[in-house]
Amino acid sequence: MFTLDNFYKSYEWRDLVCVLRIERTHKDGVLYCEHCGRPIIKAYDCIGHHKIELTEQNVNDYTISLNPDNIMLVHHKCHNMIHERWGYVKQKQVYLVYGAPCSGKTTWVREVAGKEDLILDVDNIWQMITVNDRYTKPGRLKTNVFLVRDCILDMIRTRTGNWRHAYVIGGYPFAMDRTRLEQSLGAQSIFINEAKETCLERAKASERHGWDKYIEQWFDNYSA
Ligand SMILES: [Zn+2]
Ligand SMILES: [Zn+2]
Repeated sequence: MFTLDNFYKSYEWRDLVCVLRIERTHKDGVLYCEHCGRPIIKAYDCIGHHKIELTEQNVNDYTISLNPDNIMLVHHKCHNMIHERWGYVKQKQVYLVYGAPCSGKTTWVREVAGKEDLILDVDNIWQMITVNDRYTKPGRLKTNVFLVRDCILDMIRTRTGNWRHAYVIGGYPFAMDRTRLEQSLGAQSIFINEAKETCLERAKASERHGWDKYIEQWFDNYSA
């Protein structure tokens, strides 16, 4: 039996979206968004939308929840637009956006998130409570930064407030940590799976000195 909460994390749903992605990829090798018609470049930017909205009542009716005819493949951003326009959103969605340093997590969230979404990005907290630039993180302040983070995590976990979606951004290379967070927050994971070389190039280009080490470490630790 599915609930709305576990349906999107289920093997059946993930597998169906994978199959549809392959089936709907055009002859030119491009998957086009069924909302805006533009290419969906990154797999993580592709989301399956149910035309007939899923509810606790119909989620176990597979002619609705797992019916390809009821599913559109769209950009994440387009998906948010569809839901806002038609007033679909009743349940708050939480996304865990993870990947290597410099993989483009923050950039992607900035691209897709709306004005009424809650963003938890630890880099922002460091900046908020110190005079430092984005990438200077003195160890002495760790406890304070993490306490602010935990406070926001708690708001997300308990769905406190009137936000629409929440995006939790972090490295989270370990599968165990992600599973724990997914469960405690009721979140769906989005893996920003950029190649190591690209991350290293970006670190260099943005003069984030010493970040090669963090990137290498992340890829060493990463478990799928
Ligand atoms: Zn689109
Ligand atoms: Zn949808």
